[in-house]
Amino acid sequence: MSKPIASPSRTKEILNTYGLHAKKGFGQNFLVDASAAAKIASLAEADGAVIEIGPGIGSLTEQLAMRAKQVMAFEIDDSLIPMLQDVLAPYENVRIVHQDILEADIDAAAEELLAAGCSSIAVIANLPYYITTPVLFRLFEASYAFPLISVMVQKEVADRFAAPVNSPDYGALSVEAQYLYNVRRVFNVPRNCFMPAPNVDSAVVSFEKKQGDEPLADRNDFFAFVKGCFKQRRKTLYNNLREYTGDPALAAELLKEAGLAEGVRAQQLDTEAFVQLYRILKKEVSE
Ligand code: SAM
Repeated sequence: MSKPIASPSRTKEILNTYGLHAKKGFGQNFLVDASAAAKIASLAEADGAVIEIGPGIGSLTEQLAMRAKQVMAFEIDDSLIPMLQDVLAPYENVRIVHQDILEADIDAAAEELLAAGCSSIAVIANLPYYITTPVLFRLFEASYAFPLISVMVQKEVADRFAAPVNSPDYGALSVEAQYLYNVRRVFNVPRNCFMPAPNVDSAVVSFEKKQGDEPLADRNDFFAFVKGCFKQRRKTLYNNLREYTGDPALAAELLKEAGLAEGVRAQQLDTEAFVQLYRILKKEVSE
């Protein structure tokens, strides 16, 4: 039996055999710690599918393939594709998709995996750090509400998603995350678990879908509203709402009805307060 891909010797061997090197521009830091890779992959379910973002040389993909029914892995770097097809050939449940995840049709991918008989779909990935925020917005805003998203991110970024109201990191991304998910930092992964070692440590953050029905029917319309409220962070909520609604009287009425002070800012509202404000807006515009 060969060593796991997530090991220094196998990683070096694969890079040498295929004449590859880690590309900084694509955020390539390969996981070479087998126990960390196995721990991340342990969240995969035997009858479920996993969408992986950035398989790299397949360190995590291999561990996912051993646990999940199907793995669909999106990789942007064309130089890695033939190597991935080769190295992961023993795993028939893996499909490598050569595509930028920010351009991929995530809903079509989810539909395909469900149609193939997978009971649910999780996203599990060691994210390229430079796209952490746009990727998460895309995942939160997909039509398929992923029951689990578990991603490795830079350690200092890990707590942002669960940022409390009024903290500097609290923004539209935290509201979207907290509206849909229970967010928790699962464990830290030190920089020496990667090849090449990055300048910072990492952490795995998991987003577990909240139980029960979502409070609002049109999630993405609500998210657009939240983004509108945060559009200019230094401005008051009233000013942002005025721009979002295009109607100063309506903006003032919304604050009044919600019992919010004139000078309040978006970062002072928790998720429930946003839901309430949004409901008032929908009621006002439908009357
Ligand atoms: N999963 C591997 C591991 O754990 O060793 C590699 C992780 S590495 C941090 C990030 C990977 O994401 C790289 O393989 C990189 O080429 C890929 N990547 C970067 N930008 C991407 C994008 N927009 N869409 C898909 N993959 C991307």
